Amino acid sequence: MRVVMIAPPGAGKGTQGGLIAAHFGIPHVATGELLRDHVARRTDLGRSIEGHLDRGELVPDDVMMDVVRMAFVDAKAGSGGYVLDGAPRTMDQARAGYVIARELGMLADVALHLRADDHELMRRLLARADLEHRSDDTERVIRKRLKVYHRMTHPLVAWYAQRGILVPVDAMRPAEQVSRDILAALDARRPLVGDVRE
Ligand code: ADP
Repeated sequence: MRVVMIAPPGAGKGTQGGLIAAHFGIPHVATGELLRDHVARRTDLGRSIEGHLDRGELVPDDVMMDVVRMAFVDAKAGSGGYVLDGAPRTMDQARAGYVIARELGMLADVALHLRADDHELMRRLLARADLEHRSDDTERVIRKRLKVYHRMTHPLVAWYAQRGILVPVDAMRPAEQVSRDILAALDARRPLVGDVRE
């Protein structure tokens, strides 16, 4: 099973991505986590993107595509499945990711769209800020991340709908109800064993 997740900050990508990964036995590739890990380890990449993360801005597409390509190569060496949480986040990333995935025979089966309104997202992220202390969970930076989502990422929903792989889920409800819907929808779209694709 190969899944990409399109969701605004606070919709529950991380939680649901982890559950999907456990259910199907596939790697959970969370781009935000990978980037924060680079920052924490003070790698060259981490130092170059720290400011973007703190301001709630996207890191440059070329940096991101290197990260995604490596994740696809690793996933291909494993079971061949993945749940990609956090990318693509721009139309350019979606197009570039499509080319990379097609070359590797790793095209997504499902684009999962978690839907929630800004008011609820803000409420959740501010609640999380007290627990997790992420540098980008302040009210000002959350507003910026939501704005970036609406402007840059949300247009991808129509693109995936055109490709016929979009699965929208109402993420306003409690996490257990959301995950029940997600797993039912994904099980119904599970590719057949031995399914050969380009
Ligand atoms: P959230 O969705 O809650 O904002 P993430 O952990 O997915 O959290 O992302 C945190 C930050 O990491 C983003 O605000 C952005 O700076 C960076 N980031 C993650 N994925 C991408 C991506 N695909 N393209 C550009 N920047 C990204």
